[in-house]
Amino acid sequence: MTSRAYAKQEQEPASEEVAEAAPGVLRLQLPIDMPGLGHVNCYAIEDGDGAVLIDPGLPGPVSWSALNQRLDRASIPLRRVHTAVITHSHPDHFGGSHQLREETGAELVTHESFTAAAGGFRTADEVDLDLLELGPDELVELWKQRVTEMAPTPWGTRRQPPPDRAIRRWIEMGGDDAPPRLRFPDPTVRVADGQVLVLGGREWLCVHTPGHTADHLCLWDPEGGVLVSGDHVLPTITPHIAGSAEPGDPLARFFASLDRVGALDGITVCLPAHGHPIADVAGRTADIRRHHIERLDVLRAASAELVDAPVEAYMKVLFAERAWGQMAASETFAHLEHLRLTGEAASRRDSEGLLRYQINGDVDTTDSDDDA
Ligand SMILES: [Zn+2]
Repeated sequence: MTSRAYAKQEQEPASEEVAEAAPGVLRLQLPIDMPGLGHVNCYAIEDGDGAVLIDPGLPGPVSWSALNQRLDRASIPLRRVHTAVITHSHPDHFGGSHQLREETGAELVTHESFTAAAGGFRTADEVDLDLLELGPDELVELWKQRVTEMAPTPWGTRRQPPPDRAIRRWIEMGGDDAPPRLRFPDPTVRVADGQVLVLGGREWLCVHTPGHTADHLCLWDPEGGVLVSGDHVLPTITPHIAGSAEPGDPLARFFASLDRVGALDGITVCLPAHGHPIADVAGRTADIRRHHIERLDVLRAASAELVDAPVEAYMKVLFAERAWGQMAASETFAHLEHLRLTGEAASRRDSEGLLRYQINGDVDTTDSDDDA
């Protein structure tokens, strides 16, 4: 299987090989099946006490057996894993940590703002135990019913249940408003920006990089020049910016986090959570920033014709039809809110409750008493 068969590195299926991604840092690829993603990179760093794993993959038996197989190859006994670092609150990163803690007692390290809510997940205390008795089909039906009963999106549309297959997958992962089968982890160590973690006998600086999620954490080893970037910097795709889950201006926070990481001095290699190591981090962060600047330009240009339009109309300009849906609308909303919060756009709620945006316009909202 060559990487040439895939348009994007992040889509490649998980390799069974264990590779040294940077001096002293092993890459254990774990399988995932999510839109556009075929694997997640779990990085292992050994020290005198055992080993640290960064992002131990999805919950469930498939990922767990892959993790054990890779650890075997790396000659790291599972019981030697004493710590898991979780870069952010998405299931392909934290999902395996619960079982890891149960079986090894490993410490779970996250950024101090790590929260189930950032990814729309529930904590263990919120699990309704009766739901665990329901079969998969009943859970799917219950989910659909709950989605239709939910409050509208921030931009005013009714929420549509995703296809059954997607619901089943989310239920397995304990996702957004599903009755969770698996629990959200409870971190045992919460770190702040600038704090130093000693992993593998080396000092790693915790770099808080909000944007993709508000709780995103990168690890930076200035001595070795190694950056572990999670989903903040990916080699050939750009991370999703979720306007629906992140209050305020997540795109502005993402820009600031890109600039910060791009300015780190002396990076020799960047290890992303999906895809292959990145050599030119400053170049890649500049490319990702440019991608979003171009998207903002597309919205500005579209507004000349749309004039005063709901999020869905802008989404259809920004995204190809196959991508239309809640995620695309959420990212469009993040971009429109960025324009509004930087003074380039105005929004108002129409009589149907939809948020309508006008960009660059000298919009007069004084005739509307229900401005958002
Ligand atoms: Zn990810």
